[in-house]
Amino acid sequence: MNALAPLYQWYNQYKRELPWRQTNDPYLIWLSEVILQQTRVEQGLPYYLKFSAAFKNIEQLARAPEEKVMKMWQGLGYYSRATNMMQTAKLVVEMHQGKFPSDYASLIQLKGIGPYTAAAISSFASNEAHAVVDGNVYRVLSRLFNIKEPINSHNGKKLFARIANEVLNKKNPATHNQAMMELGALICKPQKPDCENCPLRLQCISYQEGNHLQLPIKNPKKKPVMRYLNFIVADAVNFTILQKRSGKGIWHNLYEPPSIESTSIIDNKILMAEINKLALFKTKKPIRLNKVYECKHQLTHQTIYAVFWVVACKASSLQTKPPYVKAGWKDISKFAVHRLFDKFLKYYNLQQQLT
Ligand code: SF4
Repeated sequence: MNALAPLYQWYNQYKRELPWRQTNDPYLIWLSEVILQQTRVEQGLPYYLKFSAAFKNIEQLARAPEEKVMKMWQGLGYYSRATNMMQTAKLVVEMHQGKFPSDYASLIQLKGIGPYTAAAISSFASNEAHAVVDGNVYRVLSRLFNIKEPINSHNGKKLFARIANEVLNKKNPATHNQAMMELGALICKPQKPDCENCPLRLQCISYQEGNHLQLPIKNPKKKPVMRYLNFIVADAVNFTILQKRSGKGIWHNLYEPPSIESTSIIDNKILMAEINKLALFKTKKPIRLNKVYECKHQLTHQTIYAVFWVVACKASSLQTKPPYVKAGWKDISKFAVHRLFDKFLKYYNLQQQLT
């Protein structure tokens, strides 16, 4: 009998019924994998349902206007995923005539698909023997075999990939991969693993030795970078001015008010000089900055200290030509915006209602 047979029995009995487990369509599996990266199942599920209903196949997604996709993605974070997803969709239509590949060799060639996603799609859609190694699998393997190699080190990654493929059930890789991930998500949790109800309790080395809570080992992360952003919100009663964020980095292709970035907090004199460079206000009269909202906004590798300055002004005094875009306050929800700007909008909206 396979040593992991109790795991498969447990999985068949207790697995969550999730929509992407009911299909072997590689497009839908890929969609779920993109949405679930760095995202909890409960948060990702409504997005999966929304996207799979709106775009039934890769061709529909490839043809979708980017603005629409970004808007639908709003609130899920890590927006580069949405941009990469669009690029992959176009590439698949071009290279594979709209038929999403389900074999590892073709999948790994596609932009935005790494070893994990290629293994997940090829095993779930085609039952190809490739082991998936995500955060849950790292945790289960490190505890099961009492591995102390850091999971985010070069050697650790190689070691875990090798062990994951050694223990992979070659006859049924799809169930094996799903079961390993499900065990990590439901039983072998980071803080409070439910070892008493774990199907692998009797063979788990770290549990027998009592050090399972110290595993997996991770090298400490680098300190997040601090960034300072001043957003200039021009309020011309009925509308404001937005700008699409371009270039690489955070919030690519999302709308936000024109902004000024600095490496530390800047005083008002410097800020005014920088605002002049934006050429947002056509008037020669000095503008009045009203600090309405400030907050610290945490991203994975960056801490953003943001200040939103509102400038009340006449419609005629605003520049509305590119790169600026006129956005009516009533229509602002039609624009795809990042979470930080969304926080400001909610606050500002509430404040307007109270005054
Ligand atoms: S016995 Fe505990 S630590 Fe070991 S795999 Fe099961 S849940 Fe994880």
